[in-house]
Amino acid sequence: MNDCIFCKIMKNEIPSKTIFEDKYLKVFLDVNPMENGHMLVVPKKHIKDFYELDNDLIIHINEITKLMSENIYKKLHCDGIRLINNQGICQDVKHFHLHIIPIYSSKEELIDIDEIYNALKKED
Ligand code: AMP
Ligand code: ZN
Repeated sequence: MNDCIFCKIMKNEIPSKTIFEDKYLKVFLDVNPMENGHMLVVPKKHIKDFYELDNDLIIHINEITKLMSENIYKKLHCDGIRLINNQGICQDVKHFHLHIIPIYSSKEELIDIDEIYNALKKED
């Protein structure tokens, strides 16, 4: 039995605040954000870590990460973005994910995740 939490999110068995979805991946808000707008780019296929990704998927993940980052700058007015991929002992969920973490010049309190979700999903 596959009890991978991200596989369950991919199959909509566990709800997520999904910002973007296509055939290959989902981007959703981290349930325990380090900063407002912290999101995860996750392939639909269960792939353990960076080393198991094929090159086409790496390219696609980067393209979508760039798009998401542009959207974060525009909608949340952050001052920087940190991209993090944890592997090995620092990886809690053993299904590849790339963290996109907005950084703000002034320390911001974490606000309600629904508010962040609505701001990010708002049409231009
Ligand atoms: P790591 O594997 O250490 O790179 O981080 C796993 C990340 O997944 C953490 O930031 C968690 O807050 C996040 N996470 C775990 N479960 C969920 C979930 N159900 N929905 C959204 N994010 C999650
Ligand atoms: Zn998985």
